[in-house]
Amino acid sequence: RNHIPGVKERTLVAVKPDGVQRRLVGQIIKRFEQRGFRLVGLKMVQVSEELLDQHYVSLHKKPFYPSLLRYMTSGPVVAMVWEGHNVVKSTRMLVGDTNSAEAMPGTLRGDFSIHVSRNVVHASDSTEVAQKEISLWFQCSELIDWECCDHGNIYH
Ligand code: ADP
Ligand code: MG
Repeated sequence: RNHIPGVKERTLVAVKPDGVQRRLVGQIIKRFEQRGFRLVGLKMVQVSEELLDQHYVSLHKKPFYPSLLRYMTSGPVVAMVWEGHNVVKSTRMLVGDTNSAEAMPGTLRGDFSIHVSRNVVHASDSTEVAQKEISLWFQCSELIDWECCDHGNIYH
């Protein structure tokens, strides 16, 4: 794995409360597994407003921010860290447009959501933001750097 550029890249993905309540967690995890990314962290959390204030630090002044806080605290979230080549950008493509109404069929939002205010999944939008979000949501000890038996193959 180690000689492939970017193969250690990581991103934060979270199934939002609507995704958990609609029993979509398995289907969402499946999409990342079948693409070939490596799951290195996974937990269910009831998110606090304090964490969300840091997570959504650029959105505090948006008119929808209070409703976003209510949405994101309305039930548990399943947070994960996925790793692999180009995972941040590939994940954004897999997740689809922020506005579900514009999201392409085949993307998670395009397949599972119709409105921006219930868009099922979060994904980091750059490698810098991914590092910040991962350290905000996960302790180092919660991330596991496991190996495949087949060291010659980067994904399976
Ligand atoms: P993304 O989640 O695709 O990175 P943003 O970072 O721009 O999108 O926004 C964060 C989240 O805020 C969105 O995923 C969505 O849940 C919510 N949001 C964004 N825009 C709106 C809006 N116009 N109305 C309601 N909720 C919104
Ligand atoms: Mg964002």
